[in-house]
Amino acid sequence: MTRAVKGTHDLFGEALAYHRTIVDAARRWAEAAGAAEIATPIFELTEVFERGVGPTSDIVQKEMFTFSDRAGRSLTLRPEGTAGVVRAYNEHGMKVWPQPVRLWYAGPMFRAERPQKGRQRQFHQVGYEVLGSGRPEIDAEAVALSYRILASLGLRGMRLLLGSVGDPADRERYNAYLRELLTPHAARLSPDSRRRLEANPMRILDSKDPGDRSLLAELEPRPMLAFLGPEAAEHFEAVRVRLDALGVPYQVDPSIVRGLDYYVRTSWEIHHDKLGAQSALGGGGRYDGLSELLGGTAAPGVGWALGVERVALAMEAEGLSPSAARALDLYVVPLESELVPRALEVAARFWPDLHVEYALKARKPGKGLQEAEKRGARFAGLLGPDEAAAGTLTVKDLETGEQRTLPLEEVREWIGKGGRA
Ligand code: AMP
Repeated sequence: MTRAVKGTHDLFGEALAYHRTIVDAARRWAEAAGAAEIATPIFELTEVFERGVGPTSDIVQKEMFTFSDRAGRSLTLRPEGTAGVVRAYNEHGMKVWPQPVRLWYAGPMFRAERPQKGRQRQFHQVGYEVLGSGRPEIDAEAVALSYRILASLGLRGMRLLLGSVGDPADRERYNAYLRELLTPHAARLSPDSRRRLEANPMRILDSKDPGDRSLLAELEPRPMLAFLGPEAAEHFEAVRVRLDALGVPYQVDPSIVRGLDYYVRTSWEIHHDKLGAQSALGGGGRYDGLSELLGGTAAPGVGWALGVERVALAMEAEGLSPSAARALDLYVVPLESELVPRALEVAARFWPDLHVEYALKARKPGKGLQEAEKRGARFAGLLGPDEAAAGTLTVKDLETGEQRTLPLEEVREWIGKGGRA
């Protein structure tokens, strides 16, 4: 039997219902804040990600699915959404639209990572990007949206970690400090980290290698936040004041370094306490230099992405069911074979307000009720010749046992109220 490729999954049933619930929530909040949806291609020229995500990032160094087309061009399945959105912003001249431009997206991303719980090779993200403003209100708006979408799904066990990676000059000073601190211990670093010592030592702080971790624990490097220049420090303070005003709970994480090279200033992650090793639900940051890196005009930007599968895992862990997986409201049982077409008509009258299905074979009342229960229906509707002639349905509330014969309009009302009179 042929199977799906390792690290990829078919989505159906409850898993897909979680996806829909999460994407719907993101859509509602993003559009309320003025964002328009954008769908960029699933693959781009490899250089879009090499430049846009950064050559020293884990993603570019070892996680991209890259292939050549017939003309020998190097193409890559998108590992994240921001680079493509910024490319599109420039390509379509969105710079002349009223600024800032707010865009949101949802779709699959691809990373060649080792599959494990919460980590796939094809996974899904919803994301939000604002281009054309460097104001701290926009950072606060983006952080607040990413948090509130999760809270609106009912999630409680979240931790929002907020930091700043400073301006490029601040990072240069921090990198110089780290280089000086770590170079004498280079022999103890993992090969990956040794390579980064020259190009981008900040990346070493993100390393998961146990040897690197214990060296860092010994050396206790000062955090990035201690190296902010006056402008970045002022911006960070302004973002915090605005988040406090919006009532968004966060913890300052002085050492936050995100996985993408292009971030400046505000940077954040949202973790969930029940997810184990892969605890990040999402994250975001400001990326003022990205547009120019991609060959476009200068355009400040800030954005975030949430991992849909991770959010679904967190919802499951908190016992939250997806709203889209709406339970069966009513199961209509024809008591005679000639009434099967009528059962379809009855069911169709209630769509889409109620989730209604019907039996395709005649059933005795007792058997029909059993079948309705097995399908998890809240109500069973018995349809005999009398009901068919009178335009009624005999409805049994399978939770309370109460039974009523009602005209179809009243059935809708009774079921809509969940069996309350
Ligand atoms: P990143 O762009 O790496 O910050 O990813 C944003 C979010 O996407 C993460 O916080 C995760 O929730 C999710 N994510 C990233 N990589 C994966 C993966 N390989 N499998 C599942 N979810 C992922």
